[in-house]
This record gives sequence, structure tokens and C-alpha cells, in this order.
Amino acid sequence: MGKRLQDPKEEKMKDIVDRCDLCGGVLKPGKTTLEIWRGEELLVIRDVQADVCQQCNEAYLSADISEQLDHFLEEAHRYRPERTLAVPQYVAVQAIGGIA
Ligand SMILES: [Zn+2]
Repeated sequence: MGKRLQDPKEEKMKDIVDRCDLCGGVLKPGKTTLEIWRGEELLVIRDVQADVCQQCNEAYLSADISEQLDHFLEEAHRYRPERTLAVPQYVAVQAIGGIA
């Protein structure tokens, strides 16, 4: 087994999906954008086929797609990214002040 996707949000997968685990909404075939942290590096993969909740937008990947992504992530450095994004990063104290 390769490395799993690191964001637990993207870990969910089912062979047969019909209802959203989170809200019970109906799932329909669609596409999602994955944001995957690998150590200090953030990778974005757009337009990944997924079953998407019509209510809360949670995306569920099939086991097959998830496995393919695992393989891709092991060799992602060999591919030229479609584009590279500059992502602003803030620290919590800026966002929510000094609240302990
Ligand atoms: Zn949902």
C-alpha cells in the first residue's frame, strides 16, 4: 500500500455510495478539487471524479480513484503541474487575535 491521502476529509471511500455520512444528503456523480498536504507541500488536484453530496458538497472518492491518486502522489514530482499557485498563509493570532 502506498501513502494514504493525508487529509482525513478525503479519506472517505465506499464501494457503493448513496447517502452522505455527514448530513444524509443525496450523492450524485460529479467532480471535486482535492487539496493534499504532503509534509510542508500543498498539492491541488482539480476535477477529480467523485460522488458529491447535493446538500453539503462533501465529496466521496471511489476506492479505485483513491488508489490511483495514491500512485500518482508517489510520482507527482515527475509531472509538470498545470500551474503553480501562490497561497497566502496567516498565523492564528492574525485571524483570531490573542484569544487563549
Ligand atoms: Zn452531505
